Order: sequence, then structure tokens, then C-alpha cells
Amino acid sequence: MAIDIQKIGVIGSGQMGSGIAHVCSLAGYDVRMLDLSEDALKAGMSKIEKGMVRQISRNLITEDDQKTATALISTSTEYADLGDRDFVVEAASEDEDVKKAILKTLCPVLKEDAIIASNTSSISITRLGAQTDRPGKFLGMHFMNPVPRMELVELIRGIATDEDTYSTVRELAAKLGKRSVNAEDFPAFIVNRILLPMINEAIYTLYEGVGSVDAIDTAMKLGTNHPMGPLELADFIGLDTCLAVMHVLHDGLADTKYRPCPLLVKYVEAGWLGRKTGRGFYDYSTEVPVPTR
Ligand code: NAD
Repeated sequence: MAIDIQKIGVIGSGQMGSGIAHVCSLAGYDVRMLDLSEDALKAGMSKIEKGMVRQISRNLITEDDQKTATALISTSTEYADLGDRDFVVEAASEDEDVKKAILKTLCPVLKEDAIIASNTSSISITRLGAQTDRPGKFLGMHFMNPVPRMELVELIRGIATDEDTYSTVRELAAKLGKRSVNAEDFPAFIVNRILLPMINEAIYTLYEGVGSVDAIDTAMKLGTNHPMGPLELADFIGLDTCLAVMHVLHDGLADTKYRPCPLLVKYVEAGWLGRKTGRGFYDYSTEVPVPTR
């Protein structure tokens, strides 16, 4: 039986979790966001505030909308506080072990009929679903970054996902103002299966000295009409997430064309994860980001 979703839980208050909480609250849902620490939750709430202020300045929402939506969001570091949620979306770091541990902790506190979704960019929904006590009520709901601005949501059924679960979440996506496409449960689904190899290739192009950061991004913006260059986009996504997706493609499809570029590996090892750490292919410490190569 399909359930009526009213209360939503979001696990992870990073770029994606905060964005998901943002759009759910504006759509009138009661949202509870969970992360490991109060500091992470504070950072998430401040991202939501900044995002809503930007929307007000563009006349997309009013100050009253912001007030109403913000009042609908609560935060917690305790899983027990997700016990009354009808739907929980997991948006923690792109690490299979982290996600599996979260699902194991989450299930015992959840209502029996609650639906769980993962916002994973690449990991098998069937494998994650198997970690839960409800594989029929588990699916992939892959939002795009930044969530308030991007219209697409990929919906991914695991092998065990019930039809009711799928249609309930497709309806939820529509209520959030998103358009959904169905993607089958193959590594990285549709968008990242296509996008990440392009980004990885751009990093190889830099690594091999074919062009500088500026030359590569300018070439792709002007030459293919992309709004952002691939290296700028990699910094925006987060280089740790990019690397994690390449690993999933490489391991899952066993094709050397998905080999992560050694330069990407090195940047992640250095903790240069892009915008979120202030440095990646660009240095973000000045007002106008400066290419680092
Ligand atoms: P992020 O690094 O900005 O945020 C991750 C958050 O998860 C952090 O706040 C971290 O503290 C929290 N976290 C880590 N372990 C946790 C745990 N055990 N319990 C609760 N919280 C935990 O990452 P992000 O960019 O928001 O990505 C989150 C998810 O969304 C990943 O699965 C990623 O692949 C996916 N995704 C990312 C993008 C993107 O462009 N960045 C786009 C679509 C989907």
C-alpha cells in the first residue's frame, strides 16, 4: 500500500543533503536533517539560508516562503529522531561502507512502512537495499547539484523495489517540482555514467599537458556550449565524489576506460577536494577563483 509522505528525514547535511532539505521544506514537508555533528548541521542550515536568500533576490520565493520553510526544518545527530519519518533520503558521503552502516543503524528506529531512498551518485541500489530490512521499500533518488536549481531526479529501482515505492517517490519528486527519469541499476546510472568519464578525461588532458586549467575549461565552454568547464564542474561536484564515482565505474564495469586519472587521485590524497575545501583545480581563497595549473 502506498503511504502518504508528510515527514521527511535527510541523512547528511552537506551540499546535497542541505539542498534536498531546502526543496522539501519549500514544498511544505516537515524535514529533519541528521549529520554526525552539530557543526556539520549548522553548516548545512547556513547553506539553506544562503540558497533561499539567493532565491528571494531572484524573485523565485518570498521572505514569507523562506520563514515558513525554515520553520519546517529541524536538525539532529540522533537516529531515534528519525523514528516518525515517512520517508528518509540518505545523502551522506559517497562511500559504500558509510552508507551501509547508516542503513543498518537507521532501519531499527524507522516505522515499518517508511520508505528509504539513497541519493548515491553511483553505488548499486540493489546492494544498498540488501542492507536494509525493507528492500521493497528502498530505491535510488538521485538529485542533481545544486538541488534547488536542477530540475532532474534520476529514479533507480533495485531488483527488489516495489512498484508502490517507485510510484510514491515519483509523485514526491513531482511535488518537489522535479522531473524524474528512470535509470536502471547499473554503475553511476545515466547522468554520471556519461558525465564523470568526460570530467576524468578533462583531468587526463590536464595531466598530459594538452592544455592548462583555463584552456580546458574555456575550450569546453566556448566549444561545446557547456555552462561550466569540466574542471570547474569537478571542483563543484567535489573531487572525492568524482573519484568515488570513477572507482565504482571501474570496478563495476571492469573496463580500463574508466581508470581514474592519477592526478585526480593525487588531489584527493592532498585533501584538495574542490570548492568545499577551498582548493581543487581552482583556488577559491580570492573572490575570482584562480586556476592552480
Ligand atoms: P558532502 O561531502 O558535501 O556531504 C556529505 C555529508 O555527509 C557531510 O556533511 C558528512 O558529515 C555527512 N556524513 C558522512 N558520514 C555520515 C554518517 N555516517 N552519518 C551522517 N552523516 C554523515 O557530499 P555531497 O556532495 O553532499 O554528497 C552526498 C551524496 O550525494 C553522495 O552520495 C554523493 O555521491 C551524492 N551526490 C553528490 C552530487 C554532487 O554534485 N556533489 C550530486 C548528486 C549526488
